[in-house]
Amino acid sequence: MIKINCPICLKKPTRSKYSTSAVKKAGFFHRSSDRKSVQRYYCSLCKKYFSSATFNECLNQKKRHFNSKVARLLVGVVSLRESARILKINRKTVARKLIFMGRKAELNLKKFNTRFPKARHVIYDDLETFEHTKCKPISIGLMVEEETRRILGYNVARMPAKGLLAKISVAKYGKRIDERPKKRRLLFSYLNSLVEEESIIKSDECPYYFKSILRHFPKAAHIKFKGRASAIVGQGELKKVGFDPLFAINHTCATLRARTCRLIRRTWCTTKKPEMLNLHLAIVCLHHNLNLKKLSLPRAAG
Ligand SMILES: [Zn+2]
Repeated sequence: MIKINCPICLKKPTRSKYSTSAVKKAGFFHRSSDRKSVQRYYCSLCKKYFSSATFNECLNQKKRHFNSKVARLLVGVVSLRESARILKINRKTVARKLIFMGRKAELNLKKFNTRFPKARHVIYDDLETFEHTKCKPISIGLMVEEETRRILGYNVARMPAKGLLAKISVAKYGKRIDERPKKRRLLFSYLNSLVEEESIIKSDECPYYFKSILRHFPKAAHIKFKGRASAIVGQGELKKVGFDPLFAINHTCATLRARTCRLIRRTWCTTKKPEMLNLHLAIVCLHHNLNLKKLSLPRAAG
């Protein structure tokens, strides 16, 4: 007896009781992409065939063996097109892999962070980049745990251009919506489950955070630090003088910029869609968290 439920019968609730007994093995087929033989099954109730690959998350992928290779290249400052050239695959394939691996990484990052006890000391900051042109800036909000530099969460939000570009941006591309407050609210309400109630939250003096931090973490202590001049090293995120109280976040931001080709300052690669930046970031953040030396898993057995 095979204990496999027929996926077609399971959709019909009346038949689900008998579905396990009705399923029989029915040969194999050869999958050429990873040279594996896949077990096929036959369900005598609905008279349909299915296979063990029907349940696989890589269903319908022809180049599944490139999934992790593409992800590895994307956290190693390689652009999408260059990855396509290195792996000798089409760049559309790489773009699809980015979406697939990004969505997977998003889920895994959330799962990964729930394995740790709630964070006590956290730092929040924004990182700025742009989509297509500097007239369309994007803000990335990031929260890290101070001691370990573990990334707890991030968001990607469109924002209007500032300074000299503000006028040009409105004339060229029209008024740009500021998504930051909404996205920050979403991020903070998610982070409530990862951060202790009576935690210490550090940030720079940007006045926009205060209200949202106060609303979502009413019992937390919020410490503000003055912004500092940036050093030549570290993509402008690392600071010039001596001890930096926000080192954990500045270092993490600098690492993210150095690892992601589209976040480097003065880069040839740019983001075309914020959604793709979001997925690319998920892969980089997960890679960052998995490779932290200071991090020891308390519940590693699971
Ligand atoms: Zn069936």
